[in-house]
Amino acid sequence: MRDFSRSHEWLSINTATVRKQWPLDRIIDECAKRGIRAISPWRDQVAEVGLDKIAALLRATSITLSGYCRGGFFPASDAAGLKAAINDNIKAIDEAKTLDAPCLVLVVGSLPGALSGKPVHHDITRARNEVRDGIAASLEYARKVGMPLAIEPLHPMQAAERACVNTLEHALDLCDELDPDETGALGVAVDMYHVWWDPKLQQQITRAGKMRLLAFHVCDWLIPTRDLLNDRGMMGDGVIELQKARGWVEDAGFAGFAEVEIFSGHWWAQPGGDVLDTCIARHRATV
Ligand code: ZN
Repeated sequence: MRDFSRSHEWLSINTATVRKQWPLDRIIDECAKRGIRAISPWRDQVAEVGLDKIAALLRATSITLSGYCRGGFFPASDAAGLKAAINDNIKAIDEAKTLDAPCLVLVVGSLPGALSGKPVHHDITRARNEVRDGIAASLEYARKVGMPLAIEPLHPMQAAERACVNTLEHALDLCDELDPDETGALGVAVDMYHVWWDPKLQQQITRAGKMRLLAFHVCDWLIPTRDLLNDRGMMGDGVIELQKARGWVEDAGFAGFAEVEIFSGHWWAQPGGDVLDTCIARHRATV
């Protein structure tokens, strides 16, 4: 297992972590200043500054991506909606290519309308079928341009609104179905916040192996958790055994960045520089 205690060369910052403090161009500068070598930006943050400007800034600072957030949200209430979702994913794949991302992260979606509080139906089986078909259609294009897709299973508390794929096992079943030859075109993003509780976690990480493990996201699960979306903890402040899990993904062949992804009202209220400095310190001490 790699020793993270003396350097943060394998730290990546998911830029949602300081999204309330700074626009993306400033985030990139602040990361570069601290020797942080990678980020994972969100599409809206990129669009706010401009895709080409961000691509140029990444080249100028030699900062690479550990992923691009995000594609997905495949289910829809009608055929036009399904088609629009595929088109949007194709656009996201193109953006990821422009930014030279190693993968596009997929938050697959679930009951259409649920995110805005009004699900148009309650049929999660239908949603899961639409997710499978949506990934299959996007994968066709992604293969052509060479952009791996990483399915991120979300904690079951998000099963209605954000993702009807809630375990690593389910995500890997989709990978086996849609990419049976393990070409590297389809894999998973293991976000510890979403999967830490799973009794099959180690087994499924081993099953995933090097070809399917495309991203590794870290933060912590706080006791108590006060908000289902925006109360993620800083590594070391909660109950997730991050080092143990990193050992598992590395044993399985993963050798990429540990990406810190913290949506948190608490951390968004702190000065951005303090947040990044704390991420570096905790990455060394507890990841
Ligand atoms: Zn994540």
